[in-house]
Amino acid sequence: MDEAFYAEGLRFSCQRCSSCCRGGPGYVFLAKDDLRRLLARFGLDLAAFIEKYCVLVDTGLGFAISLAEKPNFDCVLLGENGACEAYEARPVQCSTYPFWASLLDSEEDWEAEGKDCPGIGKGELRSKEHIEECLWRRRAAGTILLSRAEAAHPEKLDADTLLGR
Ligand code: SF4
Ligand code: SF4
Repeated sequence: MDEAFYAEGLRFSCQRCSSCCRGGPGYVFLAKDDLRRLLARFGLDLAAFIEKYCVLVDTGLGFAISLAEKPNFDCVLLGENGACEAYEARPVQCSTYPFWASLLDSEEDWEAEGKDCPGIGKGELRSKEHIEECLWRRRAAGTILLSRAEAAHPEKLDADTLLGR
């Protein structure tokens, strides 16, 4: 098998521009552990958290829970000061960016993402092991998928059942 183009590592240091938390429409899909951390961070029950901060998205395989966006497409958790209100509890989709499988398919994909993320290609050399750890964390976390019936009545979801507690 060909060696990954990032076998010698890739340079990335976040420049704190918050561009990945704003801009065009997009989704931040939640995994069970994400939801556990976010409920604890905001001190809300499941129904209240979903109503205040989330949208349900029909993926074709089930309904995923995504963080909502403000009318200007900023993430609902992006504060006025440009910082994430849940930084320590942010979803794995956020904490593993930009080391996403979809951006590591090829060097061209990685470099193209650098147009949106000024941290790509700068600063710290991240090892192949670090990159693969990010890929694994994202894969292992999975994405919550609700049935159509559950998505129709999110207020009836039971957190213990959903989160396997
Ligand atoms: S776009 Fe890149 S540099 Fe800017 S905040 Fe996001 S990860 Fe950091
Ligand atoms: S949860 Fe935080 S880090 Fe993730 S997109 Fe929203 S503001 Fe950005």
